[in-house]
Amino acid sequence: MSLLVTGGVGFVGSHFVRAAVEAGHHVVILDDLSGSAAGGASGSQAECSADGEAISRIAALPGVTLQVGDIGDSALVASLCRQNRVSALLHFAGKIQVGESVRRPELHFDVNFTRALSLLEAARHAGVDNVVFSSTAAVYGTPGHVPIPESARCEPDSPYGRSKRAFEWVLLSAAVAHGIKWAALRYFNAAGAHPDGTMREAHHPETHLIPLALDAALGKGPPLSVFGSDYPTPDGTCVRDYIHVCDLAQAHLLALRQLEHGHSLGPLNLGTGTGYSVRQVLDTAAEVVGRPVPQSMAPRRPGDPPQLVADASSARKRLGFAPARSDLRVLLEDALRSRR
Ligand code: UDP
Repeated sequence: MSLLVTGGVGFVGSHFVRAAVEAGHHVVILDDLSGSAAGGASGSQAECSADGEAISRIAALPGVTLQVGDIGDSALVASLCRQNRVSALLHFAGKIQVGESVRRPELHFDVNFTRALSLLEAARHAGVDNVVFSSTAAVYGTPGHVPIPESARCEPDSPYGRSKRAFEWVLLSAAVAHGIKWAALRYFNAAGAHPDGTMREAHHPETHLIPLALDAALGKGPPLSVFGSDYPTPDGTCVRDYIHVCDLAQAHLLALRQLEHGHSLGPLNLGTGTGYSVRQVLDTAAEVVGRPVPQSMAPRRPGDPPQLVADASSARKRLGFAPARSDLRVLLEDALRSRR
């Protein structure tokens, strides 16, 4: 298939591109490089960053074309879809920082909703009727209980989560009105890196636990602040469901196959169903690095729910998805290799 992949230079997007190429797909990446260390400050679309070398490596993969541009540029999207006979849109591009979304909600709604709507419309009018969207567990807000099934109430706590949820409604409505087939894959905590060590998680600024913890242990970053130790969890620190980025990539390929066969999927959780506390992550990170993670206790980070763990049964049943590299130690070893 020929795929249009927005945000294909970002963390999850680039791992998907690699998996898609290995599966024999032709990929057109649309990315404004704004999240990258090499990119400008104007735009906002890459989900995560890559340096110039990493971007060149992705663009040089066989069957990959990199188009630098804006997802909101309808003429560009339409011509990319028509020229490349694109049959599916994989929409990874977006703003992802929760704190920023609280300060600048209009930015998150502009990119994650308004420009995404323009992207969808341009692609649809150019004949694309399969869409896989990067959604998030943030659509659930603070859940009443874990694990969280897709049927749980969605009450996102942040403009980021609301913008992602809003676009899920767009997809649902477009499916009813126009017959598009869609999947909104609600990622829990994407982490890890390709086992060959050539691709890594590198947000600017980095705010995620695993890269910060590994860099602290390696002496490449400041001591880690543990945000809150008084949560109602077994050891008082927050519990999250960490899923390896290569497993996420495979889940997208499985979703794509279902859409291709005419099965629309709607929202699906992508997690492992197992939660680990911040303390457990730091202890395992210390074992994997062979050095303690320098750390200090800090107040809770606003907006962090105590526990986010997926009910992963729906993706297992409907996609046949079984995470292969998401064991916490394997995931940390892969992340460490990529940071060394
Ligand atoms: N966390 C932390 N210190 C940090 C970064 C994160 O204690 O410097 C905690 C955070 O409060 C959350 C967990 O680690 O409970 C995972 O946070 P991350 O930012 O990696 O992902 P999120 O769950 O926010 O998507």
